[in-house]
Amino acid sequence: MIIVLKPEATKKEIKHVEDKIRQLGLKPMLSVGKERTIIGVIGEEDKARIQPFEAFPGVESVMPIQKPYKFVSREFKKENSVIKLGPGVEIGGEKVVVMAGPCTVENRERLLRIAGVVKKSGAKVLRGGAFKPRTSPYSFQGLKDKGMKFLFEAKKAIGLPIVTELMDPRDLPLFLKYADIIQIGARNMQNFELLKEVGKTKKPVLLKRGMASTIKDFLLSAEYVISEGNHNCILCERGIRTFEDSTRFTLDISAVPVIKKLSHLPVVIDPSHCSGIWEYVAPLAKAAVAVGADGLLIEVHDDPEQALCDGPQALKPGKFDRLMTELRQIAKAVGRAI
Ligand code: PEP
Ligand code: MN
Repeated sequence: MIIVLKPEATKKEIKHVEDKIRQLGLKPMLSVGKERTIIGVIGEEDKARIQPFEAFPGVESVMPIQKPYKFVSREFKKENSVIKLGPGVEIGGEKVVVMAGPCTVENRERLLRIAGVVKKSGAKVLRGGAFKPRTSPYSFQGLKDKGMKFLFEAKKAIGLPIVTELMDPRDLPLFLKYADIIQIGARNMQNFELLKEVGKTKKPVLLKRGMASTIKDFLLSAEYVISEGNHNCILCERGIRTFEDSTRFTLDISAVPVIKKLSHLPVVIDPSHCSGIWEYVAPLAKAAVAVGADGLLIEVHDDPEQALCDGPQALKPGKFDRLMTELRQIAKAVGRAI
């Protein structure tokens, strides 16, 4: 349920409502929006109904939220959420944010080199996994702590914030220290304990859609993050499993307008993992910008033949640069910029 406050509600009146919610064994979540201030009630809706909140001073109206997810829903917040990443970079605003880099951090020199080229082409965030979720335990698992340090070094040297995947809550302190965005990968979208842990922080989270998850499941996973208090959640569509086998997964392009209708959270698209083939990355990235995505997550490698992970889907720097030029035109055509 959400409690909509009157524009003139005083701090004392708001506190009174919040105290009552707590007394019922529920959790209040205050959201101060541009148009209105509301209190979301977390917990069993039935418990909240026994209290006539409409009668409280400062309260304008009380609305049940019909959807199973509450705080991620448009009903809870009408305006788009904009997630700030530091000076001049935000996701969910007017600009489409391109995050690019290698699948995995391979060594210091290569990471610095790729970071430099993606920045030059206009990427605003550097991607790269230090902890890799590999299907086979015999595949390269990532440079782990050392990879995190290289990422941090690249961030300092090149000046790009970094997004990198967290798989184990025990590594959270390392991520809080080094990462700007914590990525939760497709395979962990329903690792609820992990979601709760990142939800207890304020660090932006890039939540990737599980390969066999519906949009409802996806939004409920984001709800785990937000209901713990972390509102900085970015959703990433990265392809789902279908009967089609000419690409690694099938990009669900309709996820963008569907999620935009249901939720206020920013949505980005990963054209690399959904296709698995570099040739399709550019057309899918263009479609993503055209359909209204707030950003892209693209794998770039300067020597895909030698890549330790996902070489077949990596764009070489020259191709990435050309794509960025084309994306700028598409962004302009849909009233955005890159
Ligand atoms: C990644 O982006 O590095 C990754 C492993 O992607 P996904 O979780 O979407 O497979
Ligand atoms: Mn990859």
